Amino acid sequence: MGLLSLGTPLPWHEVEKYTDHVRQHGIQQFLYIWKTKKDIKSNNLLWGDEVEYMVVSCDDEHKRALLSLRQAEILKALEENEHKERLIEETNNVPLNQRIPSFHPEYGRYMLEATPGTPYTASLDELVNVEKNMNKRREIAKEHMLPQEVPLTLASFPRLGAPGQFTDPYCPPTGPASRSLFLPDELINPHARFPTLTGNIRERRGSKVAINVPIFKDTNTPSPFIDRTIPLDRHIFPEDANAREGAAKPDHIYMDSMGFGMGCCCLQVTFQSTDIDEARRLYDQLTPLCPIFLALTAASPAWRGFLSDQDCRWNVIAGSVDDRTEEERGLKPLKNQRYVIPKSRYDSVDWYLSQSPEFRPEYNDVELVIDPAIKKTLTDAGVDEQLASHYAHLFIRDPIVVFSELVDQDDTKSSDHFENIQSTNWQTMRFKPPPPDTDIGWRVEFRPMEIQITDFENAAFSTFIVLLTRAILSFRLNFYIPISKVDENMVRAQRRDAVLDEKFYFRKNIFASPSHMHDEAMTGSETSSEGSSESFESAETNTSSPRKTAPSGKVEDEYALFTMNELINGKKIHYDGAADDGDNDVYEFPGLVPLVRSYLDSMAVDVSVRCRLNAYLDLLSRRASGELQTAAAWMREFIRGHPDYKFDSVVSEEINYDLVKAVEQLTKGEEWDGKGSKFLGGIRASL
Ligand code: GLU
Ligand code: MG
Repeated sequence: MGLLSLGTPLPWHEVEKYTDHVRQHGIQQFLYIWKTKKDIKSNNLLWGDEVEYMVVSCDDEHKRALLSLRQAEILKALEENEHKERLIEETNNVPLNQRIPSFHPEYGRYMLEATPGTPYTASLDELVNVEKNMNKRREIAKEHMLPQEVPLTLASFPRLGAPGQFTDPYCPPTGPASRSLFLPDELINPHARFPTLTGNIRERRGSKVAINVPIFKDTNTPSPFIDRTIPLDRHIFPEDANAREGAAKPDHIYMDSMGFGMGCCCLQVTFQSTDIDEARRLYDQLTPLCPIFLALTAASPAWRGFLSDQDCRWNVIAGSVDDRTEEERGLKPLKNQRYVIPKSRYDSVDWYLSQSPEFRPEYNDVELVIDPAIKKTLTDAGVDEQLASHYAHLFIRDPIVVFSELVDQDDTKSSDHFENIQSTNWQTMRFKPPPPDTDIGWRVEFRPMEIQITDFENAAFSTFIVLLTRAILSFRLNFYIPISKVDENMVRAQRRDAVLDEKFYFRKNIFASPSHMHDEAMTGSETSSEGSSESFESAETNTSSPRKTAPSGKVEDEYALFTMNELINGKKIHYDGAADDGDNDVYEFPGLVPLVRSYLDSMAVDVSVRCRLNAYLDLLSRRASGELQTAAAWMREFIRGHPDYKFDSVVSEEINYDLVKAVEQLTKGEEWDGKGSKFLGGIRASL
């Protein structure tokens, strides 16, 4: 969540008058940034994570877990505290890495977002601060809450929008912004931006959003499953007719409001690159990893009080902000709109950006919908075709929220119109140009991961991603596969138990050129070299040309289907037919965890740091092998094992309460010893 503009938001019929204005000026603002910043170098790796929380209020007497709507009060108290602490920090010259975290608002009025107070640097030691910093965020947040409130990192709240009470205080499910049958507008952050986003998406689309998640068919779930909890007889808003007219599908959990999606929590990681080219390269290399990390972090098995047959939040959010009209969705011939658009504004990346030698144009195999005039403006100004296409694609969207005070801007000083379109293209990756008038460099944001229950896991996934970017640069890794295959992986990644049951398309040979590393990883040898540096930024980056000859051969021969275990832990074929003694094993695919291990082996890492990083790698490795569960699998098992569960897919208030209590227990660092102890498997205890 970026900075919030202040002002008077225009209703949709007013916004419509300014859509071209915002796009034109937005592109001019981008061009100004591009011209002034395209050659900047940022020598320091800086990076940070964003953790999103739900504030859950527990009514122990009635065994109910509710979403507390006290975001504004909590944030105000947190802000005052931060202000006070910052003054102390400045006076006492507190080192940057010990500064207190920052808190921000999010879409849900029961949500908070927190980031480290200052970015992390390239110091390997700093990696152990990530978890500490996350612990600290939780602690500070809790200190500013009521005794019954607790900040939990739940990706989706199982009973959001279920019959009965799910917010504290109770608010009846209705309101002019969302016109939802299930959610009160009171659960939307009251800052003008959020109800306006909600209302304008609905108005632009011409109906309420309609999300249908397949129901998990348990032994007593009726078939077909027709959801009797949908109030079909409601007649308050014209949109109430949507559900009756087919928006709610049989055998599905129907949701009709932005809050169901944007009320979910995720874990994001952003890093600053050395320059624009490195940012473009990392953007591309991380793109095929998005579905893999979505599946690995799956944590959303229940919606509106029902168990679903999927484990992730992703397509729920995609549906929840899908502002495309019927024409744009291809349901009616184009008349008033300019394009048929295959995806929601929240969806996976459509276009690779990098012009590095590993890139082949064939990888961009999905037909890209672009605004030709915008592309021409960009190329006329000197932007290369590939980057121009990226923005010409993002800029097919309309701005959704326009503040009347901010319509006219100085395009050399403001990037507000640019950000308006850019930041409402919620894709798996975000390519972030430097904001004007700052010394921030070109950044890349990794956005697919679901928030994890414990800080241990959140630290593990954040540090893994950042280490993987270093391995990509150091070993010159090449993860390219056609973007259509990444899209197929996105579908697979969200299915129930995808980690165990699905296979994913991935590149077979990820070494752009044969190298020392290539041989090392391919034999799986643990050649621990004398490390040269404690800073992983200064690890020698392989900038040499990755191949001597131009790419050739069929693209289809470059990738294959892999299990999650193979992708993360490696796919081994025995070299000599001998017993698995590890000596002469050859890896058909080295595995992402062994790659990061090899990278760490090439660095001088303090023993205690290495020990903690090993625990993180273990978590990923054991989760990928199925030895440990995803949060989604653990929650599903918890729900199905609860005495109140009737095997009818219903997550009752009591089950929800007990689940929240168990989650809180895990959050505090305690092990869960009930059913589902395969969750963390005692890894944390070894730290
Ligand atoms: N909460 C959203 C998600 O789960 C992301 C919102 C943001 O971009 O900060 O993906
Ligand atoms: Mg956020």
